[in-house]
Amino acid sequence: MKKIAVLTSGGDAPGMNAAIRAVVRKAKVLNIEVIGIYYGYQGLVEGQMTTLQVGDVGSIIQRGGTKLYSARYPDFKQSDVQDQAIANMREAGIEGLIVIGGDGSYRGAMDLVKKGFPCIGIPATIDNDVPGTQYTIGFDTALNTVIDAVDKIRDTATSHENLFIVEVMGRDAGDLALYAGVAAGAGAVIIPEVDFCIEDVIARIKRGEYRGKMYNIIIVAEGVMSGTELARLLKENAGITTRVSVLGHMQRGGSPTGRDRVLASQFGAYAVEALVAGKKGRAIGVRNHEIVDYDLTEAFKKEHATNLALYTLATELSI
Ligand code: ADP
Repeated sequence: MKKIAVLTSGGDAPGMNAAIRAVVRKAKVLNIEVIGIYYGYQGLVEGQMTTLQVGDVGSIIQRGGTKLYSARYPDFKQSDVQDQAIANMREAGIEGLIVIGGDGSYRGAMDLVKKGFPCIGIPATIDNDVPGTQYTIGFDTALNTVIDAVDKIRDTATSHENLFIVEVMGRDAGDLALYAGVAAGAGAVIIPEVDFCIEDVIARIKRGEYRGKMYNIIIVAEGVMSGTELARLLKENAGITTRVSVLGHMQRGGSPTGRDRVLASQFGAYAVEALVAGKKGRAIGVRNHEIVDYDLTEAFKKEHATNLALYTLATELSI
């Protein structure tokens, strides 16, 4: 293998740059040229690509976002558009593609594999919702961003005896809310994987008040409902007044944590090795501290499973 390509696709995540850097540098070690594709699958189809030298990925390991930019490009579901992407890569002498993104991006990669083009997926999304891997690039950074925000809200909540609702990202997966809930000591965590019960939330708040808790913080994943909606339900059902904080896109930004940088570096290097070994249609992941590869289709055939034991712990520790 002499030439491979790398792109970032879908929602961006801190640590994508560290993965791009690892791909370029590991490939260099193995005497392989790397082509960087801009704007995900859209750039692939439009031919927006450039050779990435070792120096081109210097000083990006610490930066959030992605140097190659990302895009959502629904047209990539069309077979003729995929054919164009493959034709562009073959014309440029590219023999394999590394796709850094979430499970949506994996579907695009799998379509290319079915058409005979080798692809490897690297999981990167702050939602941590790619089945088959315990962690995705960006999750740890986003988690720490949420913890920081909740700690700050806690300072003001402590001073004013308030009940705060913090809405965090997570449409289908509650990992960010759940891990942040445990790490920041939230009074209640509301996630898509567990049936929502307003009476339960009210009971937890009342129990806290009864034991003299001066303030409380509830973390809700956006996929269940908005913070404003939860505030309305608490007001209507129990006359409880809350303040709502929506963390929004700040959760996607920031310099990647050490953990995300290390994971991204491992994933990037492993993906290059996998392509060189002749693997195709594989996803890279981490299981019990070991980097592994598994069939790409596993990532979208299975449901993402959150850590329900951690949910129980969150509930127990916030009595
Ligand atoms: P993520 O990769 O973060 O889950 P998306 O779901 O938006 O983000 O997917 C990113 C891109 O991957 C899409 O904009 C599209 O270009 C491509 N993609 C998503 N689903 C498919 C599919 N079923 N077939 C082909 N390409 C897809």
